[in-house]
Amino acid sequence: MIEILSPAEVERGRATGALVGDILQSLRRRARVGTSLLEIDRWAKVMIEEAGAQSCYVDYAPSFGRGPFGHYICTGVNDAVLHAKPSDHRLAEGDLLTLDLAVSLDGIAADAAISFVVGGSSDAESAALIEATERALAAGIAAAVPGARTGDLSHAIGSVLRDAGYAINTDFGGHGIGSTMHQDPHVANDGRPGRGFPLRPGMLLALEPWVMADTDVLVTDADGWTLRSATGCRTAHSEHTIAITEQGAEILTLPTEA
Ligand code: MG
Repeated sequence: MIEILSPAEVERGRATGALVGDILQSLRRRARVGTSLLEIDRWAKVMIEEAGAQSCYVDYAPSFGRGPFGHYICTGVNDAVLHAKPSDHRLAEGDLLTLDLAVSLDGIAADAAISFVVGGSSDAESAALIEATERALAAGIAAAVPGARTGDLSHAIGSVLRDAGYAINTDFGGHGIGSTMHQDPHVANDGRPGRGFPLRPGMLLALEPWVMADTDVLVTDADGWTLRSATGCRTAHSEHTIAITEQGAEILTLPTEA
């Protein structure tokens, strides 16, 4: 089922989105060399609870995961890209970290992800991976104009990733969001323009391009959740929740702080 939110519900989505954006920004500032992924998870839990919000992840138990996720944020390091379960791994200089967070506030969920390099130095491969996902996300958002279809967004995202030289895995991608975290329609990270569901004002979509440096094959960790590149190569992932309005797409998950 595809939810169309009322203006009042979209307004609540703005508050949820700002909270997600601000928590991610705060965690980005606090994550440094020596920080453990479990510490980041605890910081996320505290910020979610202080805001009176609920984690969409802690009880999340889809068919592909093993039991409830049990944590508050996904923390993917280097080859770990999706559903990455926080561990006692301590961040090292140059680690490529992906933080993916979804929470619900006053009944409306928002979902976003950022990738960045820990410490002062970034290698060219990591910078290119991150930049490609950010640019693909921007292209998907720009394509989300009234009258567009989900396939137009998929095509815009996939074109950027492909032109950047990456193979695209379409097993996991964007999705509708609203009263729950994952809803129809699916917004694949590649597709044909003119196909799919027509966008309507009041729809919320989470767009989330992600790539792996030299493969499109994922493997699942022994933890039953964390998805890694099959070759051990680096990965990146960028995500925003957007609202479809009469004027175009409005990004809900931008941080409100500088
Ligand atoms: Mg998502």
